[in-house]
Amino acid sequence: MKTYLPPKFIVERDTERCIQCQACVSQCSFDVHSYDSEEDDVISQGDNCVGCHRCAVFCPSGAITIKRNPLQYNENYNWQPEVIEDIKKQAETGGVLLVGMGNDKQYRIYWDHLVLNASQVTNPSIDPLREPMELTTYLGCKPDKLDIGPDSKLQTELPPQIKLEVPIIFAAMSYGAISLNVQKSLARAATEMGTLWNTGEGGLHPTLYKYGPNTIVQVASGRFGVHAEYLDAARAVEIKIGQGAKPGIGGHLPGEKVSDEVSVTRMIPNGTDALSPAPQHDIYSIEDLSQLIYALKEATNYSKPISVKIAAVHNSAAIASGMVRAGADIIVLDGLRGATGAAPKIIRDNVGIPIEMALASADNRLRQEGIRNRASIVVSGGIRNSGDVVKAIALGADAVYIGAAALVALGCTVCQQCHTGKCSWGICTSDLRLSKRINPDIGASRLANLLRGWSLEIKDILGGMGINALESLRGNRLQLRGIDLTDTELQTLGVRMAGS
Ligand code: SF4
Ligand code: SF4
Repeated sequence: MKTYLPPKFIVERDTERCIQCQACVSQCSFDVHSYDSEEDDVISQGDNCVGCHRCAVFCPSGAITIKRNPLQYNENYNWQPEVIEDIKKQAETGGVLLVGMGNDKQYRIYWDHLVLNASQVTNPSIDPLREPMELTTYLGCKPDKLDIGPDSKLQTELPPQIKLEVPIIFAAMSYGAISLNVQKSLARAATEMGTLWNTGEGGLHPTLYKYGPNTIVQVASGRFGVHAEYLDAARAVEIKIGQGAKPGIGGHLPGEKVSDEVSVTRMIPNGTDALSPAPQHDIYSIEDLSQLIYALKEATNYSKPISVKIAAVHNSAAIASGMVRAGADIIVLDGLRGATGAAPKIIRDNVGIPIEMALASADNRLRQEGIRNRASIVVSGGIRNSGDVVKAIALGADAVYIGAAALVALGCTVCQQCHTGKCSWGICTSDLRLSKRINPDIGASRLANLLRGWSLEIKDILGGMGINALESLRGNRLQLRGIDLTDTELQTLGVRMAGS
């Protein structure tokens, strides 16, 4: 069928600069560049270009320029180019439009409307280069009170806790959705930096068991790769109910991405689609959730925290309360801008609520009900830098998950083609030729550097506020002020207007 879609990008190759090395031909996984042996020339034409920039980065002579196609539709606020193009694609395929990464629509990013405080005359700031700054975070249920014995020793038996050296965890990304080399990079970086990575719902590859003490394993609706050794190996177990990129629906890993190794790890036949049902078929109430939480606690001998992850939706504060009462030690809220390997575009772009609102209202509700100590809150979905981390903690989070930011550190350019399995950066693919592009040693070092850089910045921000321990900032909304927000927004966030 004739496609009525103009190319999105124009790829220009400067023939004066080009040395005909064909690096672009081998680097592009979307067939933009080819070698014409008859003409002995490299041909570049942008029809298939997705704007991943791999060729331009690897061109040794800087000969490639990628530009957005200036071809304009008629001005029309209602019929924007994306709307027109989506309709054309569906007229060709008759199917659901799939897309990767997170929501790219212009919903308000509240992090950018919140500003942090800094000490000036009173409560002087602290110089993090000269004085100790504490970022250590403990995740897990905390008791209502602590009993100290006459020998000054703690008498209360604490529920299992996880010690994080930095309040940043690598988000759930499953083997199959991302390559094994990316998972190795995440696992090694988490181990080096004293934090955690998360298997997602794809099981745990045998080569990654040694990273168990820094691993969160997921139990999702498909139960892929879940068995006793998998649960035993982990530092924590996460029940996945929902995710921010596709609230209310299940997951789908296309059969083409289910390679031999993925199939063994997921415990499903090779080449079959891995479909996770929308609901967990044994959870229809908070009581059912409680049963699964306690089944997992029982299965792991009450030795590790059980986390429950939901997508941030309209009533997530009430759901969070139910999750805590059901026995969750950690609750995870994944917001509207959470990324994914593949989601129906219509769901990704229209369902869910911003994480800032979900976090503020859940933290508030748990405090009002006097149960905030019974679970840690971890948030994800659009954390882009250390400023977002600090604001999330001031809004009430104990720690954050980062997914897309970690992938960007590995080379991702947010081209949103993860669902195609052709990621030219070797990240979201099970094609061995592509996945070799990630060297786990280099990947781990880049990820560790990212966490190191953010940690230094967090210490700088804390020092500026005159705070020497992250613990003292948690839920301290007085350190935040809102800019360009309505009274209702300020009220939901629980912060005051700048200047007040
Ligand atoms: S990578 Fe650059 S120099 Fe090499 S063939 Fe392509 S455009 Fe030419
Ligand atoms: S992971 Fe790969 S395919 Fe996905 S957005 Fe990043 S560069 Fe594109």
